[in-house]
Amino acid sequence: MEQVKCLIIGSGPAGFTAAIYTSRANLSPVLYEGIEPGGQLTTTTEVENFPGYPDGVLGSVMMDDMRRQAKKFGADIRYGVVTSLDLSQRPFKAIVDGTTEIEAESVIVATGATAKYLGLPSENKFRGMGVSACATCDGFFYRGKDVAVVGGGDTACEEATYLASICRKVYMIVRKPYLRASEAMQERVRNTPNIEVLWEHNTIEVLGDEDGVTGALLRGADGSERTIDIMGFFLAIGHSPVTDLVKGQLELDEQGYIVTVPGTSRTNIEGVFAAGDVRDPHYRQAITAAASGCIAALDCERFLLK
Ligand code: NDP
Repeated sequence: MEQVKCLIIGSGPAGFTAAIYTSRANLSPVLYEGIEPGGQLTTTTEVENFPGYPDGVLGSVMMDDMRRQAKKFGADIRYGVVTSLDLSQRPFKAIVDGTTEIEAESVIVATGATAKYLGLPSENKFRGMGVSACATCDGFFYRGKDVAVVGGGDTACEEATYLASICRKVYMIVRKPYLRASEAMQERVRNTPNIEVLWEHNTIEVLGDEDGVTGALLRGADGSERTIDIMGFFLAIGHSPVTDLVKGQLELDEQGYIVTVPGTSRTNIEGVFAAGDVRDPHYRQAITAAASGCIAALDCERFLLK
């Protein structure tokens, strides 16, 4: 069975930064990229707030850069999904793609987070047929059409303004009488004429036929109902941490995020570290994820030296 010093699970900014630091520290890290190589940033467009890119950079390009940087120092970056993880004793045991077993002296969990859905049966029925949680991935299919975005945070505003640049009209379905997004994002929405915000509205049903989504049935705060005609229904209502591998083994908070010792990446199991969105319900930025990947690498290095 293959034995590694440091196993990194996840390929977002946290995982790749941990790989850069641990490879430079001669820990010969092995990183498994998971189902979505490059992580959530590969589904965004331009990243304008990562220091060092004054002209902005495409999320996918930034992740390619991080991958190349980690490889340059010898990190072993592999396609593959860690399908089970046994943290009950050291060395820890991982199974990749249901078949390959690996033993690891330390593990950095950087599995990130995934998009939330409303939980309506009709939403599920039309997933991939007009219902999507990634405007930048799927917006192209709705060129010139009318679409809706659910949510009032930065993601919803970003996706709505992106969709407005390719679609005819974008409804924003916001359950509160205000947006939670930053002022800069709100201003972008206000300055985009083909976005209409439907304040204090909730989606009751996604409507459609055999060809996909045709509309949505909404209810306003006063109880009145209305239907909007749309072909795309985009969710932007936040994310859930990806913790299936570690549930029942690592301590999680009430929202399901991995709990770490404050100011460190240490989990309740010695030798297991957490980095990035999987442990961060608050900031969820590429730069904070990268920083926590660095912290995890340094914590891991100190642990292995002991
Ligand atoms: P947020 O948690 O910030 O916002 C979620 C939005 O969805 C809120 O408006 C919330 O409403 C709404 N919502 C949640 N559940 C439901 C539901 N069941 N039905 C209807 N609406 C619902 O998530 P984001 O993904 O927008 O942002 C996450 C983090 O990432 C934030 O810190 C954000 O600042 C950051 N971010 C930064 C960006 C940037 O700087 N370029 C871009 C994107 C994200 P309510 O307000 O009522 O709770």
